[in-house]
Amino acid sequence: MRKPKVAFITGITGQDGSYLAEFLLKKGYKVVGLVRRTTSIRRANISHLLGKVAIEFGDLLDFHTIEAVIRKYQPDEVYNLAAQSVPADSWSHPIYTGEITALGVTRTLEAVRSAKPDAKFYQGSSREVFGGAKHRVCNEETPFLANNPYGVAKVYGHLITRTYRESYDMFACGGILFNHESPRRGLHFVTRKISMGVACIKLGIKSPPLNETGEPLVKEGKLTLGNLDAKRDWGYAKEYVEAMWLMLQKKQPTDYVIATNTLYSVRDFCKIAFGHVNLHWKDHVESHEKFKRPTEITASRGDYAKAKKELGWKPRISFKELVELMVAADLKRLSSSG
Ligand code: NDP
Ligand code: GDP
Repeated sequence: MRKPKVAFITGITGQDGSYLAEFLLKKGYKVVGLVRRTTSIRRANISHLLGKVAIEFGDLLDFHTIEAVIRKYQPDEVYNLAAQSVPADSWSHPIYTGEITALGVTRTLEAVRSAKPDAKFYQGSSREVFGGAKHRVCNEETPFLANNPYGVAKVYGHLITRTYRESYDMFACGGILFNHESPRRGLHFVTRKISMGVACIKLGIKSPPLNETGEPLVKEGKLTLGNLDAKRDWGYAKEYVEAMWLMLQKKQPTDYVIATNTLYSVRDFCKIAFGHVNLHWKDHVESHEKFKRPTEITASRGDYAKAKKELGWKPRISFKELVELMVAADLKRLSSSG
């Protein structure tokens, strides 16, 4: 019998890491995940995978823990998905963001180079690298103009990945992914704030989860957001992790943009989300300065033509379906938790 391929995922407890682990398990991989050591290991996104994936403790701050895992398991593929991944938090945590989201990539690449140099490496790059670019549609050739500490760290991560590819002949790819969401998205992101807010309001939840400023997400039937005019190219995370794997199956490593090439506003998201439960968004949504950002990125769409041509990848579900499945999942989650 052929030995199963081994994949190592940093950030396995996150949205993408957990979906990718499920996807790779279905493909017959042995999956190893890096988890940050904490005093309690309650990890909602991977609780159903415990026993099916190997968990190793480590941190992107700590080169030795990453290298030891790679040396032990000799993975065929390494997916670096761990990051301080919240752009909004990167203004208040610029140095930490640089340590994890930028230098953490070099630590992981160095660990691969030292312990399993022929492993294929995927870097979780972001559309934030384009930042304030003038382009309304961005592709792999669009210049990087990151304009927040997270985006700047992602530029570093992307370019160091390319540098290792060119300097050491490593198989290293950067997936420049536009925003992608799901019921596993963190509550600090606007889509999940809205879907959870809708569910709390619809079900009349008395003690809602806390928002990013530590206040109840919903107060007196109101959900407070920031800039309702902000626009994003939003896709479905479950589809995006497939693109990561496809990139590592190619003969030659290169970088790809993954996106839907559509653009919607936060207001559009609210309209569909509240409408799905027969409520009107205007009755429940407020906008407050404290959730607005010092700079916004340009409202740009992603051109995924290269991924479509070379990987055979394209987005499948619509924006409306995405919003509705997120709202439905939060309604279900809250209903079953009593
Ligand atoms: P999540 O925020 O859901 O997951 C981030 C993961 O990183 C978590 O598993 C987290 O662990 C882990 N992590 C954070 N800090 C450290 C650390 N110091 N050491 C080890 N692990 C750490 O992000 P997503 O799944 O949404 O995104 C995956 C990657 O893709 C990230 O790099 C993100 O920046 C990037 N990306 C995401 C996009 C999106 O729209 N989702 C778009 C473009 C890029 P813990 O559970 O302990 O917090
Ligand atoms: P990001 O693109 O990775 O920063 O994803 P977010 O979901 O955090 O933000 C997407 C857009 O929504 C940004 O332009 C925000 O300014 C806007 N936005 C509006 N209100 C909110 C809010 O309450 N929280 C967050 N996180 N973003 C908001």
